Amino acid sequence: MDAKSVFATVALMVLANGAVLANVYRGLPWTLRPAAIRWQAGTALVALGSGFFAFGSGMPMPVMVTLANGTLLFGLGSYHRAFERFYGRRSSPVDIVIATAAVAGTFWLSAIEPCFICRIGLTSAAWSLLLLRSMWLLHEMRTEDESRSRRMLIVIYGLVVVYVIGRVAVYLHLDVPREATIATNDYGINLVSPMFVALLPVIGTTAFVLLCAERVKRQLEIAAATDYLTGLPNRRTLVEDGNMAFRRTRATGAGLAVGVIDIDHFKRINDTHGHGVGDEVLAFTADCLKQAARKGDLVARTGGEEFVVLMDDLDLPAAVAALERIRVAVADSRFSIDGAPVPITISAGVASCEPRDRDFDDVFRRADRALYLAKLAGRDRVKQAVA
Ligand code: GH3
Ligand code: MG
Ligand code: MG
Repeated sequence: MDAKSVFATVALMVLANGAVLANVYRGLPWTLRPAAIRWQAGTALVALGSGFFAFGSGMPMPVMVTLANGTLLFGLGSYHRAFERFYGRRSSPVDIVIATAAVAGTFWLSAIEPCFICRIGLTSAAWSLLLLRSMWLLHEMRTEDESRSRRMLIVIYGLVVVYVIGRVAVYLHLDVPREATIATNDYGINLVSPMFVALLPVIGTTAFVLLCAERVKRQLEIAAATDYLTGLPNRRTLVEDGNMAFRRTRATGAGLAVGVIDIDHFKRINDTHGHGVGDEVLAFTADCLKQAARKGDLVARTGGEEFVVLMDDLDLPAAVAALERIRVAVADSRFSIDGAPVPITISAGVASCEPRDRDFDDVFRRADRALYLAKLAGRDRVKQAVA
């Protein structure tokens, strides 16, 4: 195979890959589409650049070399913009400056003062800068995105950087004539370059699609575990965490207490001020509970105007005291609508894990019965479970 055929094959492979991404695109949530479009544009530009190397022999050499390198470099820039959009970063014009400077230099070094090795040095420097910028961005995102695909992309980018730098060393060693291009068959390395050019659009595209898929999966996991209105963990999370905490308590002998909380006369708030204000009261109360609870305690919304606090390492008297503190915090809170105060009070029932409890649900049910007693006793109070 000659270098031009390899470039032609690469251009076709890249286009085919772009078509796959175009198909996947329709299944992506709209928040990820701007990033995907930039990735697609990058892939189209890389395909075009490879096409120029493959089919551009009819053009004057400086024109072909400048167009080919230019489209490849702007393709890399477009990939970088895809990452910027993906991670919600403001896009900076640095990649455009780098690519434009390299394109101008390439034209100079092919039309005005032809120098193959200078051109290779210049484009390799531009490639390395663009690739390293993307690697750095991906590296910076390590704490908020622990996905494998992000690490995979760093490795792919790293491989291309190593190749790009290594290639300069090889050409320096080969003593190439000034008018040569990388699309001729004179050197074995000319056959290898297109394959490395294909690494980003082909394997990189797969990694990018995975990156999107992992983001969607994470968002779905969060949505499944969270209450939409208050942002608190939902009943499903409470049951999972509660069962886990119960097993830990059984294994270690440490205390576990549960507080079930219900807003008093919430229906009245809805009826007087409307459902929208009711929703605001729910979110406001959720914040109050979260602030008044201890740091490591789980505060969940289990439905309607009902919340649960899961407290590790607490015996019953300490848990009752904790709930009393939370009750006072809510009663003292100042919620108002158009300047008019809307008093909010809560009732709570508390139970702690006892030897006869078979599972978390046993503890939960006793706390719920205690809540009923608090309501019966007149509301705005905390009651502990009776044996
Ligand atoms: P009690 O003091 O006995 O708890 O009286 P209550 O009015 O708080 O209790 P009740 O069970 O009679 O009414 C609860 C109301 O909560 C009824 C329901 O319409 C309302 N509700 C449930 N979920 C939501 C919600 O997500 N938003 C709003 N605004 N209201 C809700
Ligand atoms: Mg209520
Ligand atoms: Mg209720």
